[in-house]
Amino acid sequence: MKAIVTGISGQDGFFLSQLLLSKGYEVHGVLRRNSSMTRGTIDFLPPDIEKQLVIHYGDITDENFLSKLLQSEKPEELYHLAAQSFVGYSFESAHSTYDANIGGTLNVCNAIKTLSPDTRMYFAATSELFGKPNETPQNERTPLLPRSPYAVSKLAGLWTTRTYRDAYQLFMSNGILFNHESEVRGPEFVTRKISMGVARILLGSNEPIVLGNLSAVKDWGYAKDYVEGMWKMLQYEIPDDFVMGTGESHSVRDFVEEAFGVANIKITWKGTGVNEVGLSEEGKVLVKASRGLYRPLESDNYRADYSKVREKLGWEPRVKFKELVRIMVENDIKLIKHK
Ligand code: NAP
Repeated sequence: MKAIVTGISGQDGFFLSQLLLSKGYEVHGVLRRNSSMTRGTIDFLPPDIEKQLVIHYGDITDENFLSKLLQSEKPEELYHLAAQSFVGYSFESAHSTYDANIGGTLNVCNAIKTLSPDTRMYFAATSELFGKPNETPQNERTPLLPRSPYAVSKLAGLWTTRTYRDAYQLFMSNGILFNHESEVRGPEFVTRKISMGVARILLGSNEPIVLGNLSAVKDWGYAKDYVEGMWKMLQYEIPDDFVMGTGESHSVRDFVEEAFGVANIKITWKGTGVNEVGLSEEGKVLVKASRGLYRPLESDNYRADYSKVREKLGWEPRVKFKELVRIMVENDIKLIKHK
């Protein structure tokens, strides 16, 4: 079996490529060139795993590149993970977000339709499509009310794959995934900012962790579990859409408390909104909120109802909130110690 993974240098690409290799796949990855020739999370893979990957340098906004790739490789499966995935940045640069997430997805769909129609495709949709939902928990029938350029772009991607699936009888499935994190999460994402900040403070830093909305409520799982669900979606008898999450809600404040808890540090909160701070027992400011990190529109209040994926694909999250936070903090302590 051959699979192409776009976005192989991202968090999910790291776990998915290892999962597919362990199942005996020939794994091809799409990688963007950058001037420093770094390769994102590919550089964190063990050398014996990394050398098994077949890398194609290219950009998903380049229709010609994708056409040539699909024509020459004709993979059984394609996992379309590549995206401008940071919600905050999408408010700064909506145009580039739309180019990659809408234009890039359209290019992938067109290349499959015209050059490799037997390829099964996974599209990385997101719980951000729900915006700030009034109904809890959220499932495949919850109204989609995006509240960021990122979410709008993913809505277009979702509907592009649904339309191509129905119009041209293509196997295209959507994973509506709630937040999933890990030890290779990008450093700009809130969970990794917290785990790295806690590790630095434990190892002597006096810099507090600066965050946006501490009250934002998310459903956080472990990325390694979620890539297994992606794979299961493409083994299912029909293409379909599935919500994946843990069914647990936690605020950013909870994440901070849990992360410091790994080192037995208790946080006390003082103030509200942008004036809120998290203090150590000695009264030292370890965490503070910043107006600059609030989004123009917040999207939260998330909790997944993942009963469909559980019933149809037998998928369950193995790692829950407490364990996830511990994995991330312990890993960042190790990383900083060995720098
Ligand atoms: P990520 O770490 O940000 O990785 C995104 C990947 O896309 C990177 O490899 C990036 O390459 C690549 N990419 C971006 N623009 C590209 C372009 N124009 N051409 C080629 N490659 C491009 O994201 P992730 O956490 O692995 O998430 C994977 C997918 O799931 C994304 O589509 C994301 O939006 C979606 N998703 C993620 C979550 C989550 O909580 N993690 C939840 C729901 C949905 P560079 O290294 O060159 O930047």
